[in-house]
Amino acid sequence: MPDVEMTAVLERQRRAILTAGTPDLAQRRARLAGLRAALLARRGDLARAISADFSHRSPHETDLLEIVVTVQAIGYLQKHMRRLMRPQRRHVTLTYRSGRAWVEYQPKGVIGIMAPWNYPVALTLIPLATALAAGNRAMLKPSELTPRTSALLRDMLTDAFPEDEVAVILGGPEVGAAFSRLPLDHLLFTGSTSVGRKVMQAASENLVPLTLELGGKSPAIIARGQVNRRSMDGLTFGKLSNGGQTCVAPDYVLVHRDDFNAFRTRYEETVRRFYPAGPTSPDYTAIINDRHVARLNGLLDDARQKGAEVILVGHRPDSAANRPRTIAPTLVLNAGDDCAVMQDEIFGPILPVRTYETIDEAVSFVNARPRPLALYYFGERDAECEKLLAQTTSGNVCINGTMMHVAQDDLPFGGIGPSGMGAYHGPEGFRAMSHAKGIYAQGRWNPARLLHAPFGRLAKLAARLNLR
Ligand code: NAD
Repeated sequence: MPDVEMTAVLERQRRAILTAGTPDLAQRRARLAGLRAALLARRGDLARAISADFSHRSPHETDLLEIVVTVQAIGYLQKHMRRLMRPQRRHVTLTYRSGRAWVEYQPKGVIGIMAPWNYPVALTLIPLATALAAGNRAMLKPSELTPRTSALLRDMLTDAFPEDEVAVILGGPEVGAAFSRLPLDHLLFTGSTSVGRKVMQAASENLVPLTLELGGKSPAIIARGQVNRRSMDGLTFGKLSNGGQTCVAPDYVLVHRDDFNAFRTRYEETVRRFYPAGPTSPDYTAIINDRHVARLNGLLDDARQKGAEVILVGHRPDSAANRPRTIAPTLVLNAGDDCAVMQDEIFGPILPVRTYETIDEAVSFVNARPRPLALYYFGERDAECEKLLAQTTSGNVCINGTMMHVAQDDLPFGGIGPSGMGAYHGPEGFRAMSHAKGIYAQGRWNPARLLHAPFGRLAKLAARLNLR
């Protein structure tokens, strides 16, 4: 869509806001109900479109990691919207006690939502639900790398909402660049850190406030003696769901030196239990496109060349022919810091394993690298766990599991530094898409009036009392 048309859509949405005013609770509830119904009506179509876009993804994975989490998030907003919309009384400074102070959470206006390809439904529709709950209108820009799903989302949302309420704009990086230049009232971008930088630069032209949901290398740390079913199941689920193409997937794992051999054996066992037919298992998701397959194979070649041990787990030699674009679950042992696999976000089913001896060493390892989106710890809630929590900074933390913090609707979800800025989900999401308008209403008796010019004895007294 050319820039002028996008601008025209934005103007139409702005005009509609002025005509219709702020939506009340019932209107917001109806919009969310409409979104939920549209999603459930297209559930099967979406699963098929996503699978075709990926070349293969299990409909169960789409159900659990896209549809269920979105419906759950809509349910949370439906339940808590009334409370979140309510004005909040605020403390009034002593001198002005006869007045009243409060905050009203006003819709910001038109929210722009830019989404990646890896969870094309949830990462488009949860931000949309949040925007609608906060009383906004929205323009969406889904990813060009899932063309069938993005077109289906456009059809679905066009049927469910008038264009001046929710509009979907399709296109690639050029359209994304133009979209990020629009003078929106807020922009939520989910995607890579490198594109996030460009989006922030473009948004700065119009001082558009941003939520950036970016990526990075999320570490998983397994406490000494904790290589067990709980940690292996949690790690494997996080690493291999969606073929590892998850922003909060554990990127690499730090294992205690004494547990290294046990880890290798148990991880292989767990992967075989999850995916008995290896990469041709029906539940194993393919890689989104050939460019990413080449990128992941490049990471493995680089690691091999630099002396790391690369182990294909559950690989079947016959599988490549009947399932295109799959990469077998792979362990990379003893990869040095110079390996690309220890530098770039992996975003695939490859798991580098490093060892540590003391928890301080693990803390230092994490702190020597950019602040991650998620940090995972497997172990007891003991002093070591507390140390890790207190001394590292990450967007979120999940203890004895992976990714499940994202499904806690009342928790903020977001990164910090290179992994993101701001958060959505929970009250934080609603607040991010609302303008907190502070209002003060002067009381009938207004002592401040006594302090107007021409200043005299009272002004001196007031200054003296207030500066004591
Ligand atoms: P991406 O940054 O390439 O694309 C995201 C969106 O930006 C797409 O809609 C794309 O069309 C658009 N875009 C591409 N180039 C652009 C440009 N120059 N200017 C403006 N827009 C442009 O990301 P991706 O490859 O689709 O997704 C993978 C990345 O997203 C990973 O880094 C992953 O960690 C991250 N991610 C983060 C979260 C999170 O919630 N924090 C969730 C999922 C994915």
